[in-house]
Amino acid sequence: MTRYVIVGAGEAGIRAAASLRAAGEREIVVLSAEPIAPYERPPLSKPPDPDRGLLRPIGVDLSGVELRLGCSARAIDRRARTVELATGERIPYDRLLLATGAKQRRLACPGGDRALLLRSSDDARAIHARAEPGARAVIVGAGLIGLELAATLRVRGLEVCVVELAARALGRAVPAELAERLVERHRAEGVLFLFGARLEAVEAGAVRLADGTRLPADLVVAAIGVEPATELAEAADLACANGILVDSSLRTSDPAIFAAGDCAAVDHPRYGRVRFESWRMAGEQGRLAGRTMRGEAGELTALPWFWSDQWDLSLQVVGRCDPQRQAVLRALGSPGLVRFELDPTGGLAAAAALGPAGPVGRAIRLVERLIERGAVVPPSTLADPEADLRPFLRAP
Ligand SMILES: Cc1cc2nc3c(=O)[nH]c(=O)nc-3n(C[C@H](O)[C@H](O)[C@H](O)COP(=O)(O)OP(=O)(O)OC[C@H]3O[C@@H](n4cnc5c(N)ncnc54)[C@H](O)[C@@H]3O)c2cc1C
Repeated sequence: MTRYVIVGAGEAGIRAAASLRAAGEREIVVLSAEPIAPYERPPLSKPPDPDRGLLRPIGVDLSGVELRLGCSARAIDRRARTVELATGERIPYDRLLLATGAKQRRLACPGGDRALLLRSSDDARAIHARAEPGARAVIVGAGLIGLELAATLRVRGLEVCVVELAARALGRAVPAELAERLVERHRAEGVLFLFGARLEAVEAGAVRLADGTRLPADLVVAAIGVEPATELAEAADLACANGILVDSSLRTSDPAIFAAGDCAAVDHPRYGRVRFESWRMAGEQGRLAGRTMRGEAGELTALPWFWSDQWDLSLQVVGRCDPQRQAVLRALGSPGLVRFELDPTGGLAAAAALGPAGPVGRAIRLVERLIERGAVVPPSTLADPEADLRPFLRAP
C-alpha cells in the first residue's frame, strides 16, 4: 500500500488528502504546524461573521486521514524517504506532498518587528484584540489583504490610514480602473491613503515616513506580500526559484515529491512558470496533486481566479490581467465595471469585475467559460452592457 505524507494542512494540503481518501487510499498522514483544526484563511481579513466568527473550518471529510496537529516537519531525507519532525521522529513516505504555503513578509525598516502580520488565525486574533474603536491603525501595503483589513478595522470604528510605496493600490493583479474605484469607496468611508510613501521606521505609538511625516498609530499591520515557504524543499536540494519548482502535474525535481498551493511555482500550460497565491488555485492544485501522486495523468489547466470583498463591493478576476493588453470596459450597474482583456488575436484572455456580488459573479463565471472555449467577441459587443455574451459560448 502506498504511504502518502502531506506537509501543511491549508487549502492545498487538505484538498489533496481528501482527494486521496476519496480515491480509496488508506495511508495518508497530514502534518500541520498549527495546533488547531484546518481552517480557511480568506475570512481572516474580512469583517468577522456575527454567527461564525473568524474561524471557518475547511469543510471536507477527513475520516481515515491521520491528521497530526502541532506537528512541524523539520527535514526531508530523500534517500531514506522519510520526513523528520521537530521532535526527531521520522515518518516514512512513498509519496510526499509539500503544501507549506507562504509567510507574510516583515517590514525591513527599524522597528519593523513592531508591526503585526496577518496570515494565521493567531495573527487575526492579535489584530482584533488591539482593534479598539477610536484607535488609530496604520496598514502598510495597499494590496488585497491590506485593503480588506482596512475596511474591517474601519467597520470596527478605528481611524485607518493605508501607507503604500507605489503610486496606486493593488498594483500587482488588479487593473487600475477598478483599483481606483475601490479606493474611492474606501475614502468615502473615511479611510486615508498615502501613496508613494516610504516607511522610515515603526516607533512606539507611531510610524515615521521618509518625508518626515509622523503618523500616530496604536496598531501597525504590515501587509506587504508573502514569500513561499520553501525552507524544507531547499534544505532537501529540490529545485526552487520563488517557490518549489513543479511541472504541470505538480511533480518536483524528485519524482516521489510533489508541491501544491502558495509554496509551488507551477509550469502552467497556458502561462508558463507561475506561483499562484489564491484560494481556489491552492484547492485546485491540492486536488490535482491527490490524483497525480497516485500516478494518474493530469495537468493544472484551471484558469486562475480570485475574489475580494470590501464594503459592499465584490472584486473578481479571472485569467492573468496585463495592463499592456487591449482592453474593453463595460458598465456593470452603478458603480460596477468589467474590464475585458483581449489577446493579440482578439480572443478573451482575462477579465476583472467590480460591483455588487451577484452581477460580478455571473459576469466572471461567463467570461471564464468564454476564455476556456477560446471565444472571440467583438469589442463593441463586449462594451455594450445590454449585449448578451452567452451566444458566444456556442461559437467554435
Ligand atoms: C488573510 C488572508 C485573506 C485571504 N483572502 C483571500 C481571498 O479573499 N481570495 C483569495 O482568492 N485568496 C485569499 N487568500 C489567499 C489564500 O488563502 C491562500 O492562497 C491559500 O490559503 C493558500 O493555501 P495553501 O494550502 O497553499 O497554504 P496555507 O493556507 O498557507 O497553508 C500552509 C500550511 O502549512 C503549514 N506548514 C508550513 N510549513 C510546515 C512544516 N514544516 N511542517 C508542518 N506544517 C507546515 C503552515 O503552518 C500552514 O498551516 C487570503 C490569504 C490570507 C492570509
